[in-house]
Amino acid sequence: MLLKGKVAVVTGGSRGIGFATVKAYLENGASVLFFGSKQETVDAALAKLKAIDASWDVEGQVVNLSDYDAMKAAYTGWANKHGGRLDIAIHNAGISPATKIQDLTVDQFKNTYDVNVTAVFVGCKVATELMRAQGDGGVILNTASYTAAYGAPTGCDYPSSKGAVHTLTRGLARELGPDGIRVCAVAPGVTRTDMVASLPQEWIKPLEAKAPLKKLVEPEDIANAFLFLGSDMAKSVTGVTLHVDAGGTNY
Ligand code: NAD
Repeated sequence: MLLKGKVAVVTGGSRGIGFATVKAYLENGASVLFFGSKQETVDAALAKLKAIDASWDVEGQVVNLSDYDAMKAAYTGWANKHGGRLDIAIHNAGISPATKIQDLTVDQFKNTYDVNVTAVFVGCKVATELMRAQGDGGVILNTASYTAAYGAPTGCDYPSSKGAVHTLTRGLARELGPDGIRVCAVAPGVTRTDMVASLPQEWIKPLEAKAPLKKLVEPEDIANAFLFLGSDMAKSVTGVTLHVDAGGTNY
């Protein structure tokens, strides 16, 4: 058990990569509060987890992730249930609208940044406040994307927002290192989730073929990266964006 007794929060935990990460964290002894965008998907995810192990310490909530006060209340409430601790905060929720630039409105662009960047910033800020107060640091992990390095065929909002996640992570690692707070990101390659199922398959198939390992990434592969980075096995690792992409640098 890599995370025995650790207290964690995970945004975008109701499905896909986030759900796999919540499950991996619970299996490894953590207490987890996760967030989703709809109450019914949060409830469904909770039911799935409780069916695996009813004793797992897990709760789910729907919160506006870019609302500082709401996030502060949610993270603090979970910490207060666990002796005031927050050990690991994972900011994973994201959207990928894939809209061509001629159709992409300024409001849509801002909305992508609200979910993919502002919400990550707010989560990092709230987590920092709690982790500084507990005095012995913590770990903040964010979900970036391979598209930050390679772009995407359409939807310039998404790769650029993930580039911001990468540099936000890097900057905060420098700023928060002296407080004992590690800050890292995981950059998934094309991962078999609902988000990818909703993209045009003519994009996806060639990427699978081009990846050196000739496969898509599974949500559990990303969860394992979050497990490593959140654990003491990574105690000297900060500021990195770990690419988990079947070697997809050739995408
Ligand atoms: P998904 O669509 O299956 O799940 C997204 C999660 O984010 C869900 O839990 C959803 O409830 C939550 N979410 C979305 N919008 C939200 C909002 N406005 N408010 C609150 N929660 C919201 O996606 P996924 O494929 O599991 O992706 C997870 C993360 O990984 C995202 O940040 C995504 O950009 C990133 N990523 C995914 C891939 C991939 O190939 N699947 C590749 C690179 C990066």
